[in-house]
Amino acid sequence: MERKRYGKSVGDIMKVKSDFFTRNKEMLEMSSRQADALLRQPERKICKICHEPLGGDVFYHSQRMDYYLCGKCGHVNSKHEDTDDFANAVYITDSYENNYSEEDKKKYISRRDMIYIPKAQFLIEELEKDGLARDEISVLDDGAGSGYFVSALRKLGILNSTGVEISGPQVDFANAMNEEQILLQADPEKIVPIIRETKVNTVTFIGVLEHIINLDEILDAVRDNTNIRYIFFSVPMFSFSCIFEAAHQNCYNRHAGGTHSHLFQDSSIAYMADRIGFEKLSSWKFGSDMMDLYRMICVSLEEGGNGRLKEEFSERFLPILDTLQKTVDESESASEIHMILKRKA
Ligand SMILES: [Zn+2]
Repeated sequence: MERKRYGKSVGDIMKVKSDFFTRNKEMLEMSSRQADALLRQPERKICKICHEPLGGDVFYHSQRMDYYLCGKCGHVNSKHEDTDDFANAVYITDSYENNYSEEDKKKYISRRDMIYIPKAQFLIEELEKDGLARDEISVLDDGAGSGYFVSALRKLGILNSTGVEISGPQVDFANAMNEEQILLQADPEKIVPIIRETKVNTVTFIGVLEHIINLDEILDAVRDNTNIRYIFFSVPMFSFSCIFEAAHQNCYNRHAGGTHSHLFQDSSIAYMADRIGFEKLSSWKFGSDMMDLYRMICVSLEEGGNGRLKEEFSERFLPILDTLQKTVDESESASEIHMILKRKA
């Protein structure tokens, strides 16, 4: 029986995401360029998760993109396919300085502690409930980015944890911030063999599965390596955020579109797990739906010359934001999910 957890205080996340408020136009333009890149790709013929042929009526459209609902697994697929050409166009490697300051390090630690420690804690607690001792947990984080999640695991005592990441500059940054080698750089074609051969019992994909072009191949590698007993991932869900975005086309679409060309539902996650011989162990749903709605209303008020009303709205709405979001989370309509899958016995 899947254990379920809901909700998480928004708190300081607002500061992290403050760009979304002040740079709506810029962000919208960036997302539009990413949509151009996806619209150039061939049309998707089959569902990204279950391979059922797609077609029939469009489920919804937003920011020039049509979305189809898979009749078999419930996955929401963009009309156009994510391909290597799309990935090359939309994933821009950040540039990093060669000299990192103490200030960079402070920011790194603060972001890790605020966003990634709770995720790492969740994983560890759930694996402990499943009978693993802390020192038995070993983790490979795929698509490790700047190493925040691996760094959080290590801080919590999971020393047998490393990550792989395609971007060399990000790996250098992660290792410099942690003052030890916590990540390894690996070219795209090396990722599948690394997963096939890893000795760890847990592989993690934090905000990664939705970006993987060869998702089947990666999941097959997990299926075939029986050392791997757990998968932990977070993915974007078809949720209220999608609906708010479709209704507010003047506002930056953080969720559907941009680099996200398909969205999960509980049913497509279940299908994906079952296909590779895993089942749901635990989930934690906490979304940004209400924050998205709040942002969109603020942007529209501001653009309409209603700055004073926006202030009034903020004062009344922000204190109830967490409560509203918790209700959304419990209604199973949250924009994000964190899920632990366990290999079936
Ligand atoms: Zn499907």
